[in-house]
Amino acid sequence: MDLTTKTSKQSFSSQNTLGIIGGMSWESTQTYYQLINQGVKQRLGGLHSADILIHSLDFAPIEALQMQGDWEMMAQMLADSGKRLKLAGATGLLIATNTMHKVADRVIEATGLPLIHIADATAQAIKSQGLSNIALLGTNFTMTQDFYKQRLLDANLSVLIPDDTQRDDIHRIIYDELCQGQILDSSRQRYQQVIASLAQQGAEGVILGCTEIGLLISQQDSPIAVFDTTAIHANSAVEFLLQG
Ligand code: GLU
Repeated sequence: MDLTTKTSKQSFSSQNTLGIIGGMSWESTQTYYQLINQGVKQRLGGLHSADILIHSLDFAPIEALQMQGDWEMMAQMLADSGKRLKLAGATGLLIATNTMHKVADRVIEATGLPLIHIADATAQAIKSQGLSNIALLGTNFTMTQDFYKQRLLDANLSVLIPDDTQRDDIHRIIYDELCQGQILDSSRQRYQQVIASLAQQGAEGVILGCTEIGLLISQQDSPIAVFDTTAIHANSAVEFLLQG
């Protein structure tokens, strides 16, 4: 039986099929898996769960390419992943990391599929709470480059980022600890210091703009509103699955 045809799929599920390009790192992809399934269960009840496909990439070569700055190679790898998910039946895509949205346009171009953009979903969540001055934490790529920040600015948000030393700590903790499943109190304290200093500079809320930061920081650790991109993105995924 061909499960990728529309007819056979329709008889099994009323949901859209979402393709997730994950594994960057798998520590946060498993959070996505859990949150999306919980969201679908909450909306549909009973034994319902999410109609999703996950392609989990090996993160080590990706991280090496990030360090080398070879975004062309990474664009090809993610575009290839998107095409595989499309062939498997995905009708929409999600890249389960903030940083790799640097190549989001290339994935859209290669697949022709709609992509749920993490920065757009986050900007919407912030605006729905009426905030406009927002701090951004993430990898150095996400905090300093336009591919992410510009989308927040386009949504009329003012964006504050940590200073050089703070950024290096935020970035290092992501790769050396969070992406490797290490959750340390000392690192939580460092993040809290950085958030407090950004709040002092006028930030009304803080974007946890890396999908692993939610493993370390939650609302109770912050004096200002926390926007966890993994949770926000997972919510948008549930909307996509259940729409139409
Ligand atoms: N998951 C992280 C993010 O959301 C960092 C890992 C990566 O570079 O993709 O940016």
